[in-house]
Amino acid sequence: MKAPLIRTFSYHCRQKYGMAVGKIPLDVGITCPNRMRGGCIYCRSASFTPSCLRSGDDIPTQIERGKLHLLKGRFRYYFAYFQQETVTALAQEKLLPLLAAVLEDPSCTGLVLSTRPDHLPEKLVESLALLIEQSNKDCLIELGLQSIHAKSLELLNRNHTLDDFLVAVERVKQYDRLQVGAHLIFGIPGESWTDMVQTVEFVAGLKLDALKLHHLQVIKDTTLHAMYLQNRFSLFSLEEYMDFLLRIIPLIPEHVTLHRLWSTSHPSLLVAPKWHVLAGELSRILQQRLTEQGLHQGCKSRVGQVVTGRTRLKQKE
Ligand code: SF4
Repeated sequence: MKAPLIRTFSYHCRQKYGMAVGKIPLDVGITCPNRMRGGCIYCRSASFTPSCLRSGDDIPTQIERGKLHLLKGRFRYYFAYFQQETVTALAQEKLLPLLAAVLEDPSCTGLVLSTRPDHLPEKLVESLALLIEQSNKDCLIELGLQSIHAKSLELLNRNHTLDDFLVAVERVKQYDRLQVGAHLIFGIPGESWTDMVQTVEFVAGLKLDALKLHHLQVIKDTTLHAMYLQNRFSLFSLEEYMDFLLRIIPLIPEHVTLHRLWSTSHPSLLVAPKWHVLAGELSRILQQRLTEQGLHQGCKSRVGQVVTGRTRLKQKE
């Protein structure tokens, strides 16, 4: 396969599994513990919940609806994507059997568990690694970080620290069968380009398997929305964000799979920024700019030159 400019999730799956693999978002029906502490100021789960996902349905029903409405025959296989709230806050004695049942589906390639760094106890990670070993499937744990800067974590009301994140990363890395990734948000009020680039360079040095990158979006009726109405910060324009991506993508090692590069919240709940551009067009613009400027993921990475060469990317897996 021709080496891509960006290691997207789609490319990663085609390289690793020989085909495209979908994701089915699932909801175990719990409330994120951080909501008891006010919740993250930008978060409203309805803004990214697919319309076919009904939290009252049991997991098998959610999967069947996901196959029907999201895979739509385009994908034979899927990752069970526990994106809603903080899935690992569910009691282990309930969570592990639930995950084991999901993994029994032959068309399930593995799990993606989205969670907070302070909700990943050692015992759970150990049990999860065993489960994944026994099922011979894959599991990516996506840890919300958003920024390495304490002032930003405080402003966002994340209620965890960078150290919490680092402990969680090391906990997952003990197990070869588990993969670990991070969520980052760009455009947090008060952060400069230098702050954001520092976050990317720091995280790039952790040898993670995946990243999920977002520009900040203001969602209706969130705390961030109230701040926005008071003109307390500005947001990325499309042009600025493209320039920013051109700055950071070269810093990210080539082996890191980029699951997302921008937010795509429901238009009905999105206050700003409204770019009026579909994701496919964003991707086309970015690819064109990378090509024009002779850039690709990892071309300016200072991390592990040995593993970030383009030939190594092709050899991996
Ligand atoms: S930790 Fe995640 S789910 Fe919980 S409030 Fe923050 S962004 Fe939302």
